[in-house]
Amino acid sequence: MTQGREHGPRVREACPGVVAPMATGDGLLLRLRHPIGGLDPEQARTIARVARRYGSGALELTNRANLQLRGFTAETLPAAQEELARTGLTDADPDREAVRNVVASPVADVDPEAVADVRPLARALAEAITASPALRELPPKVGVVVDGGGRAPLGDLPADVRLEAVATAAGLRYRLAVGGTARSAAVLGRVTVEGAVPAAVAVLERFRALRQTAAEPPRRLAEAVDRFGTEPFEGMAGLEPVSGAEPVARRPAAAPGDFLGRAPQGAWVGAAFPFGALSADQLEGLAGLVEAGSGGTLRVTPWRTVLVIGAGPDALPALEALGAISDPADPRLRVSACIGAPGCDAAAAATRTDAPTLADAAADLLERGGRLHVSGCEKGCGEPAAAAAVLTAAADGYTLNVADGSAEPLQTGLAPEAAWRWLAALGRVVASEQRQGERVETTMERLGKSTLAARVRWEVGHGG
Ligand code: SF4
Repeated sequence: MTQGREHGPRVREACPGVVAPMATGDGLLLRLRHPIGGLDPEQARTIARVARRYGSGALELTNRANLQLRGFTAETLPAAQEELARTGLTDADPDREAVRNVVASPVADVDPEAVADVRPLARALAEAITASPALRELPPKVGVVVDGGGRAPLGDLPADVRLEAVATAAGLRYRLAVGGTARSAAVLGRVTVEGAVPAAVAVLERFRALRQTAAEPPRRLAEAVDRFGTEPFEGMAGLEPVSGAEPVARRPAAAPGDFLGRAPQGAWVGAAFPFGALSADQLEGLAGLVEAGSGGTLRVTPWRTVLVIGAGPDALPALEALGAISDPADPRLRVSACIGAPGCDAAAAATRTDAPTLADAAADLLERGGRLHVSGCEKGCGEPAAAAAVLTAAADGYTLNVADGSAEPLQTGLAPEAAWRWLAALGRVVASEQRQGERVETTMERLGKSTLAARVRWEVGHGG
């Protein structure tokens, strides 16, 4: 953490919180850790009011299920921090705040298909981690996932430590794994419900000890396992061996569209927003959808959506009136863009200004299930793992990369208008070549770089 100018705010260069925000191109950014179990409507209204009164009114949903508030200044920050502290959602200690990175299944308590309601365990774990002075020394990105399975499995969300609910003949158990997704993480064994928090804390303590003795401390558990194997984390009390394929690894991955609209039995109503960005007014509008006396909450998900628990019967038209996306087929769900200029100092383009027009050009790709990502620089913040086309801004224009199995770009130095023509041409080529049932990425890979580049260049030249 770094101190701002003398008597100025505490700021971080990465992994911000509320107590220690981050300086960005459009002012100070506050990241509010999402409470396990969701925001009650009053908390959401307070966040909206703070964002509007003291910040720019712009909010973002993150892929770790947190909320970001943008555009604060050194002058407005203290009042914003004070009001947010009154919601009970922040920590007075920035180091406690930084390690409170526990993501729990968002709807395991209301999802009849879930293996377990993981909220009590996730809360106890977050409390145990933040209460430990030793664990506050962990790198701030280190995070834990507590997966209750069901309709919103967290198997694709990478984590340093994973606790995944499994129904066994002996009762509920948690699979304990380190460094990756449900498929890639190294499985240490199974623990009972009572043993889950001590086991997860013990893994983190061993990771801290490993970092203290290593000449070059690993920054994440995955790196530690790559370099040292699982041996430093084995042999803990209470670990049961795991044999055979675990059901958690076979759970289908979840996608943003899975939760939009009204869930079966009305358990929740889901909303998304273009680029995961929403306004203070929209957050306030979501809070207003929770029926009085229902005990409902707003749940931010790692798919950058908000699920309204306890929504009334008119919630769907109300979501539409708010400008939210509630249709799983909406092509905007397949377009992402980092904050870009002016929000990020590193950006070479105003990505979110360019992205809607570029998405129009990519209509053929999006309709066929492809994803488009627009990045302000090579760092690629928020880039989805599987994008059919990625435009990356540089000083000389956009570079277009496509999912053809090659790391070579399709074209470089594209001004926004040229990038529009290239995307439209790419869409026409894919539309003419895609086989029945084939994914866009597979079509591109099948054609290969040289054929695809030649066909797209011809299309660009002839206007289509
Ligand atoms: S990808 Fe680059 S421009 Fe975009 S937010 Fe990250 S650092 Fe900034």
